[in-house]
Amino acid sequence: MDITLQQVEYRYQVGTPFERRAIYDIDLDIPHGTYLAVIGHTGSGKSTLIQHLNALLQPTKGTVTIGDTNIQAGKKERQIRQVRQKVGIVFQFPEHQLFEETVEKDICFGPMNFGVSEDEARERARKAIELVGLSEDLLSKSPFELSGGQMRRVAIAGVLAMKPNVLVLDEPTAGLDPKGRKDIMDMFYRLHQEERLSIVLVTHSMEDAAKYADEIIIMHKGTIHKRGTPTEIFHSPEELLQLGLDVPDVVRFQYQLEKKLGIQLNTRCLSIEQLAEEIQRWMGGNGR
Ligand code: ADP
Ligand code: MG
Repeated sequence: MDITLQQVEYRYQVGTPFERRAIYDIDLDIPHGTYLAVIGHTGSGKSTLIQHLNALLQPTKGTVTIGDTNIQAGKKERQIRQVRQKVGIVFQFPEHQLFEETVEKDICFGPMNFGVSEDEARERARKAIELVGLSEDLLSKSPFELSGGQMRRVAIAGVLAMKPNVLVLDEPTAGLDPKGRKDIMDMFYRLHQEERLSIVLVTHSMEDAAKYADEIIIMHKGTIHKRGTPTEIFHSPEELLQLGLDVPDVVRFQYQLEKKLGIQLNTRCLSIEQLAEEIQRWMGGNGR
């Protein structure tokens, strides 16, 4: 399912003294099957932007098109339920929204709320718990007996049980340890590849953006500062550093090395393996 935003603006608390324009001039297309990363400072509008992708927020100007549904500023749209099912959002700390007595009931809650039968919902719960890499035995447990990482996965399973076409992730690994982060990021990548889900990932991790995304957008002060492939985005590290953003370690290392040696390697490397090869090639070319 394709998503397109045209000239989208969103203001919080319109008509009050607290009115605030959070995003503006947003033109963005997310073709089906894309893995898009959204980076930018706190307050740059990332969370506001992604809540437009399933009509949780409706633009105060412009148009959002989600599949066949057009959501225009100032117009009521009747097909919002359908959109909510097709675009699943995993919010920050989603485990805070767990509330049922058992893991199974929690995962079934969303689908049943959307009219899926109890049998079908249970079947989906079994499939979803497997997709997030947890054992079926957990289905009968209370979500509150689980570890933090397991609770996070259960919350994600609840979103997957809706069978979305697009998965929107707002800093999904915040607060997890490095192993837990990698496991969850690898799981999303697997879903992207195997279930052909589009993914929109909001992240502070430049490493994750570089490693998983096909495309990256930089949000800055409420609008899209730049869009490109990871290689394009990290091509000029100075630009990101000037915006106060980070770059992946491997990019910073190449940048420092090039500066110190007064050289320029042929490509902007995004992995250690690639950089090692590029340095080897450079040394070979210099007769060493
Ligand atoms: P990010 O996710 O990049 O940190 P947000 O989308 O949360 O950015 O915030 C963008 C801007 O909108 C910020 O200036 C923030 O203070 C403001 N904002 C966010 N949520 C609300 C809200 N519920 N009411 C008023 N202003 C808000
Ligand atoms: Mg946010």
